[in-house]
Amino acid sequence: MGKIIKHIGLICFLSALLQSCSSSDTFDESRPLQVVATTSMVADLVKNIGKDSIQLTSLMGPGVDPHLYKATQGDLKQLRAADIIFYNGLHLEGKMGEVFEKLERIKTVVPIARGIAKDRLIKDPEYEDAPDPHIWFDIELWSGTIDNILGTLVEMDPDNELYYTKNAQDYKSQLSELDIWVKQQIQSIPVDQRILITAHDAFSYFGRAYGLEVKGLQGISTLSEFGLRDRVDLVNFIVERGIAAVFVETSVSEKNINSIVEGCRQKGHRVYIGGNLYSDAMGAEGSFQGTYVGMVRANVNTIVRGLMLIQ
Ligand SMILES: [Zn+2]
Repeated sequence: MGKIIKHIGLICFLSALLQSCSSSDTFDESRPLQVVATTSMVADLVKNIGKDSIQLTSLMGPGVDPHLYKATQGDLKQLRAADIIFYNGLHLEGKMGEVFEKLERIKTVVPIARGIAKDRLIKDPEYEDAPDPHIWFDIELWSGTIDNILGTLVEMDPDNELYYTKNAQDYKSQLSELDIWVKQQIQSIPVDQRILITAHDAFSYFGRAYGLEVKGLQGISTLSEFGLRDRVDLVNFIVERGIAAVFVETSVSEKNINSIVEGCRQKGHRVYIGGNLYSDAMGAEGSFQGTYVGMVRANVNTIVRGLMLIQ
């Protein structure tokens, strides 16, 4: 028995010379941190703090719906190779929960929403235990997740603490400017026209933070079905309030919102599609909407233009 252990020790020692004998969760200081993020918004946030000191992979690209997304074989490989995994949490990545549960036993897996005070989360009246996950639409709240990411990066890579801390401070300032800009833009819309109707309930945090009434055709997950009753209620609401524009989303099918436009038309009310909003995914990499800041700016411009269309 002792001989066998000696042999194993020797093999391990020899292979350690060629290649690390330890598992992938041990950090090798000679290479940058391997970081995997789920949605493009989470990846953008992490990128702004880690910059070129980390090697970052984002699993979900433009137009991808995180509520329905399932990890591919390629994703599992990336996740297994990562030093850190950041995800939104609050069940946004509803189909990946089991994967994260397994991985967090062997490596650093961080839901960035962890740490947000419970009373700042918007509750879904139908599912008390499942708060609304679309936290990135309240810029202040989103900025509040930076310390969670920063703490994790510093813990795994303390040599770069000053660099990460400086990046985090800079990005917090950028987000704070963005927050002020959004408030100013929304205030330019007459109060009674501040009503945002979209395909699914992604904008409740946005509405709360910036003072818009928000209605989504589907619930807070695109997994939920919308019924005939919901459709009739929403059509009546739009007609009664004389709402001029509704919005589609890049990561959700247009079909449902088109049925609302048609329902209003049948009641003699003309409602326009005010444009495409980025809800659960950012725009193409390299485009203006391909960063979180660009995505928010594009959305706000579309909302202001659409709601100012009024009759
Ligand atoms: Zn969503």
